[in-house]
Amino acid sequence: MESRHPDATPPNGALHNHLTAEVVVVGSLNMDLVVRTPRHPQPGETLTGHGLATTAGGKGANQAVALARLGASTAMIGCVGDDAHGHALLAGLDQEGIQRQGVRVSPTAETGVAMIQVDDASQNRIVVIPGSNAELAPADVGRWDALLGRAKLLVCQLEVPLETVRYALGRARARGCTTLLNAAPAMTLPQDVLALVDWLVVNESEAAVLSGHPVGHPDEAAQAIQRLRQSGCRQILVTLGAQGVVAADDDGLHHHPAPRVAAVDTTAAGDTFVGGFAAALLRDETVATAIRDGQAAAALAVTRAGAQASIPRRDEFADH
Ligand code: ADP
Repeated sequence: MESRHPDATPPNGALHNHLTAEVVVVGSLNMDLVVRTPRHPQPGETLTGHGLATTAGGKGANQAVALARLGASTAMIGCVGDDAHGHALLAGLDQEGIQRQGVRVSPTAETGVAMIQVDDASQNRIVVIPGSNAELAPADVGRWDALLGRAKLLVCQLEVPLETVRYALGRARARGCTTLLNAAPAMTLPQDVLALVDWLVVNESEAAVLSGHPVGHPDEAAQAIQRLRQSGCRQILVTLGAQGVVAADDDGLHHHPAPRVAAVDTTAAGDTFVGGFAAALLRDETVATAIRDGQAAAALAVTRAGAQASIPRRDEFADH
């Protein structure tokens, strides 16, 4: 009989059936290329920038990192390219203790990249090239059905194909795993996808696009939630930046103000909130405590520069 090296990658994931994590993130991994310029160039103009940072990003990876740093045992399903960016992203997941056997390395697509220009007034201009993230297929999730079956929570966003998100949510439901969708970036969603979501987390602009009405303050967030609840999703959180969170669960509708901090960079605030909120749910905290934890983590993140670099560990803010 042919012997297999114990570390060899199995052809179909069957040998990975022992993998266990409390939470599985199905989502994007990007390399962020951040260029600083005094101002944004005019069409056709060449400007001299000052500083290039190459940092790990993508909403999926950011949320996986937030979950891991905030105490949840975390696995990720995604797709990177077989290139320097892809290998660096995988090494980054290893450093965070995230199980990344579910991150496929595509032999053909390039790793997703976000080109981010920041001017001296801290205004961003961002172009995202999805690359390998666009290749993440339902089969890449199906291979990890047993992992989903053992997890308590699935976390998804919308930077990978919608059919893959729909499939992941459906499989999680079928396996008794709670589902959380951070519906970012903003887009309208079919009813059948929303109906598969246990926890919907959106910011102001995402809530506005999903509900079809502007959302800028807590009253409007509450109205958006009432409309979105008709889709079948009962537990909805709208994050409002410095104004905090408006949340609906089976106890009713509540506004949770954010801690007051001096924000220097709000990149990854939403991702950190999702990580902190979900990690607390996994510890069986109440919804109010989970929102407080998510907001405490996000408030610390906005006082620091960077995306993943700004995400705190739980012992940096928890008092218990
Ligand atoms: P996103 O990054 O998705 O746009 P938000 O801007 O709504 O999300 O921020 C998510 C959460 O991060 C907020 O609900 C809040 O708890 C926290 N947060 C964001 N900006 C600030 C801020 N300026 N001060 C305090 N907390 C903030």
